[in-house]
Amino acid sequence: MKYVIIGNGVAGIHAAEAIREVDTRGDITMIGDETAAPYCRPMISLMLEGSVSPDSISIRKTSFYEDIKITPVLGTLVTGIDVDNRQVLTHDKKMLAFDRLLIASGANPRPVRAGRMDLENIFFMRTQAHVRKMSEALPNSRKAVVLGGGLVGFKAAYSLIRRGLRVTMVIKSGLPLAMQADNHAGKMILDEMSKHGLEVKTGAEVLGFEGKRRVESAHLSDGSEIPCDIVVIGKGVSPALSFIPRDRIKADLGIMVNQNMETNVPGIFAAGDVAEHIDIARKTPWVNAIWPEAVTQGRVAGMNMAGRSFACKGSLSRNIIRIFDMDVMTGGIVNPPANDPQYETVTFSDPRHKIYRKLVFRGDILAGMVMVNAVEQGGILISLIQNQIPIGIPKNALAEPSFNYKKLLDFYARQ
Ligand SMILES: Cc1cc2nc3c(=O)[nH]c(=O)nc-3n(C[C@H](O)[C@H](O)[C@H](O)COP(=O)(O)OP(=O)(O)OC[C@H]3O[C@@H](n4cnc5c(N)ncnc54)[C@H](O)[C@@H]3O)c2cc1C
Repeated sequence: MKYVIIGNGVAGIHAAEAIREVDTRGDITMIGDETAAPYCRPMISLMLEGSVSPDSISIRKTSFYEDIKITPVLGTLVTGIDVDNRQVLTHDKKMLAFDRLLIASGANPRPVRAGRMDLENIFFMRTQAHVRKMSEALPNSRKAVVLGGGLVGFKAAYSLIRRGLRVTMVIKSGLPLAMQADNHAGKMILDEMSKHGLEVKTGAEVLGFEGKRRVESAHLSDGSEIPCDIVVIGKGVSPALSFIPRDRIKADLGIMVNQNMETNVPGIFAAGDVAEHIDIARKTPWVNAIWPEAVTQGRVAGMNMAGRSFACKGSLSRNIIRIFDMDVMTGGIVNPPANDPQYETVTFSDPRHKIYRKLVFRGDILAGMVMVNAVEQGGILISLIQNQIPIGIPKNALAEPSFNYKKLLDFYARQ
């Protein structure tokens, strides 16, 4: 059996290991355009911060490919898939035949449309190579502009502050983490950022940059001009699927997959940031571009590719992030559609201790949550959302920080 995996990120690696567990003899080829040993992508911001070396964010040994008998084809870009002849095409005009194919090409940073993007020191932050180039620019940089108020934008801003730069974050929406949090939590996060010296411009977009060779300033839609010597673009990601034939392999925002992570073409699978799977909370196809989903989906895809039958019932957005001294945990549906009677929202707020917890229910099922500080029991709540377990206890009891696993079990024991 010939297995080909496109992408040597975490989804691809977990798929390869799962295949090898089941099929000890099949040929596995992994094609990736990055050449570094497999690494933990979320930790590249720590590399930028200077607190870890590239080696310490590796997630597998450099001998990984050899150890489980994989043929690596690295530094190679896949440019097409010939579905009928079951071949993968590469930028250097090679063709690799497959019986089973996994597309695990992850995601690309969303570009911005702004003038003078050709100037030096304007970066994305997706790969180790991006962070290496940013780090080279740091000794001559004092002032940074970070575009985007999401997870990547915040991590970039935080790392640059730790490196001693003055940072202005430009957020198109009114509040940071707008995709993950609700307005109340967003305001608390904004206050926390400002308190720690992060300048935040909300409701503005970048129109263009100026400079001779290197970037020297950013022009914003509110008419302001921000001097800067480095810019980081963190405006979200889009699935990396430019090379897939959309007339053959069905794709919406991401590549559509079933519970086995198989596409509409038998024998061709997709997993990780590139895949669109049913969202457990939303009950609709969704791309949840997060690390734990890439791990699970890669493994499930690998098992099915090797002939086992494994189902992945869906994915769930979830995140935990420390914003200076504030912990923020989110999961599932945080902003339910206004006036939809299906949804009920319960909140707990303790402004003195900067605690805020909001739970979103659909009937007696927990569908989403956002928690600011007092996040310790968040894992139980995520598990309730993931497993769609009907909540028997009063909903406001679940929202209180004093809620814990024992209380939940005691309640069920009394029933
Ligand atoms: C700065 C940062 C912080 C993050 N923080 C978090 C976090 O806190 N929590 C969390 O859950 N997630 C976080 N993420 C997201 C997480 O890293 C991703 O969800 C995860 O890496 C997805 O894994 P993947 O294997 O699907 O894709 P990737 O890790 O992107 O791997 C895909 C690989 O395929 C390669 N590839 C793409 N196209 C081609 C092609 N045509 N030919 C050959 N190779 C190709 C890519 O170069 C890449 O090496 C963060 C991401 C970044 C960048």
